Amino acid sequence: MRSSLYKLARYDKLFSLSKLQEMTKKYVVCPYYHLVSDAYQPFVSPLYKVKTIDEFQRDLDWLQDNFKPIKWTEIDECENNQTPAFCLSFDDGLREVYDVIFPILKQRNIPALCFINSDFIGNNDMFYRYKAAYLLGVAKNSGYSQLIPKINSITFETKDMLNQLALCLKIDFDKVMSDYKPYMDLYQLNELKNHGWDFGSHSKNHPHYDKISIKEQLIQTSESDAFLLKNNISDSNLFAFPFGQENLSKERIIQETNTHNAVFGTANLRRDIPNFYNRIWMENTNSSAKDIIKGEYFREYIHQQIDDK
Ligand SMILES: [Zn+2]
Repeated sequence: MRSSLYKLARYDKLFSLSKLQEMTKKYVVCPYYHLVSDAYQPFVSPLYKVKTIDEFQRDLDWLQDNFKPIKWTEIDECENNQTPAFCLSFDDGLREVYDVIFPILKQRNIPALCFINSDFIGNNDMFYRYKAAYLLGVAKNSGYSQLIPKINSITFETKDMLNQLALCLKIDFDKVMSDYKPYMDLYQLNELKNHGWDFGSHSKNHPHYDKISIKEQLIQTSESDAFLLKNNISDSNLFAFPFGQENLSKERIIQETNTHNAVFGTANLRRDIPNFYNRIWMENTNSSAKDIIKGEYFREYIHQQIDDK
């Protein structure tokens, strides 16, 4: 669905970007990435395709040619004034955000927002899917491909099995984390903050919210909020659902908007709850920003036609 939608978007003569904006009455887009890299990323590459530096630069060229770069605080105003604008964000707090993305955005003077899992800052622990990715890479390259389905079947609830599998494969995750340092530390987050970056929480350790109790969800959110506040990273009180808000009720989303200045989701251009901003995932595709964003305008237009019926 995603790739055919993005291929359709290439027919510029059919619909221009401005025509699509007029048709959908949507003027602000919120693209998000996790990292940008030319190198194989052992914690992410086995899960999805990461954009290269050149692909990211071309995405930004197109975005800047067609939209004004804005901070999250300007989203409503730009939408109300029908000013085409983009609010860029990055999830999970990975080190490439500091090493690769930060210098590029600084040079282009583009503001950014970053959503952080508080348990992982400073590389004390790692998202269970990133551990799974690392093991997938090792299993593939060391003749243990029979382990691949097993690794892929591990969930947040059974994540301790990843540590046991690592032992079997003679991998010490503590050493891997201290060698690679997949996440930014507090010093790096502070430097981004001092350059105008905004931060929001993204849960403590990235569970699927629909798979844990409401009580656990609220603890995940409030403790990661408190971490950002206590460490002077952010007092903006922003939150992005880990894995998006899929399978969560509208009431549950509203509950988070009631306790945050803004909440961010992953349903592309949908916007039906005040202070809840959906974002467009820019990774796991060979498509350019132009094809992705125009494709998502198509999706939103189709969605709106169905809503009207
Ligand atoms: Zn995430």
